[in-house]
Amino acid sequence: MKKETRIVNAGRDPRSNFGIVNPPVYHASTVIFPTVADLESSENSPYEGVRYGRYGTPTTQAFEAAVAALEGGERCVSFPSGLAAIACSLIAFLKAGDHVLVTDNVYGPTRGRLCDGLLKDFGVETTYYDPMIGSGIADLLRAETKVVFVEAPGSITFEVQDIPAIAAAAHAAGATVIMDNTWSGGLYFQPFEHGVDVCVHAATKYIVGHSDAMLGAVTTTAALFEQVKSTAVQLGYAAGPDDCYLGLRGLRSIAARLPHHQENGLTIARWIAERPEVELLLHPAFPSCPGHEIWKRDFTGSSGLFALSLRNCSKNAVSAMLDGMELFGMGFSWGGFESLIVPTYPSRSRTATPWPHAEPGLRIHVGLEHPDDLIADLDKGFARMNRAA
Ligand SMILES: *Cc1c(COP(=O)(O)O)cnc(C)c1O
Repeated sequence: MKKETRIVNAGRDPRSNFGIVNPPVYHASTVIFPTVADLESSENSPYEGVRYGRYGTPTTQAFEAAVAALEGGERCVSFPSGLAAIACSLIAFLKAGDHVLVTDNVYGPTRGRLCDGLLKDFGVETTYYDPMIGSGIADLLRAETKVVFVEAPGSITFEVQDIPAIAAAAHAAGATVIMDNTWSGGLYFQPFEHGVDVCVHAATKYIVGHSDAMLGAVTTTAALFEQVKSTAVQLGYAAGPDDCYLGLRGLRSIAARLPHHQENGLTIARWIAERPEVELLLHPAFPSCPGHEIWKRDFTGSSGLFALSLRNCSKNAVSAMLDGMELFGMGFSWGGFESLIVPTYPSRSRTATPWPHAEPGLRIHVGLEHPDDLIADLDKGFARMNRAA
């Protein structure tokens, strides 16, 4: 079956649910057992793995089955946010004395809050590497390197990593490859066909797709599932049932929504690339983006999120543009139906590689509005920017 078919069908069985199309939302803390033997068994549950609200319910299991189908992995664990999913996947494979390699263009909180914060405090050392390093990562792998963390394209700057080359070097050194696959929506990149062992997704973004819930997911091969699930249980993570339902509802239509984000994004990016104010377009589908050739080789599409750098533009001029936008909201969490724009400062969150372009730049999420209206809004914005310059 093709992926579009699998994500419509995974995690639901109308015949076990009065013929109703969608699985119900189970609100649960307590699970009641019929016998002492059932109650005291840590292995078996008469209810298909359901033992305690925190360990999962039929609702979380349905969401997890559907995400596993989307990502092309075997099993999935749900989390109350994308960052929780990243934290758990790192903690599952790292302990004091270990070393982790993390791409320099990683999602900001993965760097600041987890690697430079919590993991450092618990004795795990992080080295950041050039996102374009490819097989050169072999030089950075040490005996104590247990995880190589990749994200493609990277947050804010959108370089596309050579994941097969990085995974081959990591596996040769015995390290686990964890990927943040949020940008592709799970639809335009197949992590497990490119050497990834553990795939993290901020389901908050395109899977939920409507800016109304926070969710994370970690999809794994069959062999690595227990390591992630048992860490999630140790840490007490449990995704809320209503949020899982919203995630499942969003996921069912992702194969219809994402191509529309893609088309609108390409239309806006093509227009932006011609603007005299723009120095560099950072959209993986355009040759100006580092790693564009890798994107062409490994990805099957692009989502609606990209960035650009501006030609020597003052912060005041950028504020004049952004403060007056009518359709583009100013907010960080993207992946909903609506367009967003924020200023970016890539040099503040890079250490392995310098950022040679002027700041602030802009990051744009293109939603499902008509592109003509979005272009008109941006056109007026650039006029305000030029008047303020
Ligand atoms: C938003 C985001 C996250 C974090 O997701 P939350 O649900 O907001 O915690 C992680 N990785 C990437 C690439 C993101 O864009």
